[in-house]
Amino acid sequence: MTASTGPDRLREPTRREFLTASSLALLGATAQDPARPAGPTPEPIIDIHQHLNYSGRPDAVLLAHQRAMGITTTVLLPAGRPVTRPSTNQGASNALEAQALGNDACWRFAQAHAAAYRFAANEVPDLDGAKAEIERYLRRGAIMIAEQKFGLACDAPEMQRLYELARERRVPVLMHWQFERFNLGFERFHRMLEQFPRVTFIGHAQTWWANIDKNHADQKVLYPRGPVTPGGLTDRYLADYPNMFGDLSAGSGLNALTRDEDFTRGFLERHQSKLLFGSDCSDHDGSGPRCQGSQTIAAIRRLAGSPAVERKLLYGNAKQLLRL
Ligand SMILES: [Zn+2]
Ligand SMILES: [Zn+2]
Repeated sequence: MTASTGPDRLREPTRREFLTASSLALLGATAQDPARPAGPTPEPIIDIHQHLNYSGRPDAVLLAHQRAMGITTTVLLPAGRPVTRPSTNQGASNALEAQALGNDACWRFAQAHAAAYRFAANEVPDLDGAKAEIERYLRRGAIMIAEQKFGLACDAPEMQRLYELARERRVPVLMHWQFERFNLGFERFHRMLEQFPRVTFIGHAQTWWANIDKNHADQKVLYPRGPVTPGGLTDRYLADYPNMFGDLSAGSGLNALTRDEDFTRGFLERHQSKLLFGSDCSDHDGSGPRCQGSQTIAAIRRLAGSPAVERKLLYGNAKQLLRL
């Protein structure tokens, strides 16, 4: 699949797949329902990647979706302000190409649901006042600069100003890597990792995940399938730079986890302190075949080598990194 616009999502399941999986989910529903009052308390899970009004999803549905997935803390990532300029692909990439709301809405929502929600701060980096806008929300308690999803070089002066702010305020920067569309120049990002050793960078999306594979040759292929050879650029960034982390969310993250499960077992073991669960799904279900987040949780539970590693990926790493 090579679609270059729209949310980072694998194809919708066919009706037949959906019905089969729904029936299976129904059979297992009583054992898996995290909202069930009886039985042991479910394990806490931090979701580092969600959006408000995602593809128009109402707030009440988001709340129910996160509860259904078993999420105890959700981080809302705002869009930058809507503007028409090259860095937003002349407006086509406004609202993170997902109808996502901005800083003010995320801040207010997190205040209203303080027990379970946090928020990040964001802005179009090459706007005058971008730094001041992000700083305003960091002072209000934003815990990341995210989601950075703009058509700028990853080492552009405007981006470096955000990395300086992240260093000053000690918050991670989460970046959506998508070939020739968002955060350009993945192959030279090591220079930024070296120049900003005290800034935590969190990698996300198609180009980030496609490059786990040493043999990933065609950067236009955004959801590569099949066996993975260790040693891709992403694998090396994670191994070589203490300040590089990975966000497991979205169709690209789920595809990376499931395309070669033997590879994934080793990958999760190697980078067990560097990977964080996120969902980034816009469905209304919170379970089943339309919900990528719940499938990612299931894949982590299946492929993490031990309960201790599973806990780090779903909870501990995010808790530590985001100081939750
Ligand atoms: Zn994204
Ligand atoms: Zn979902």
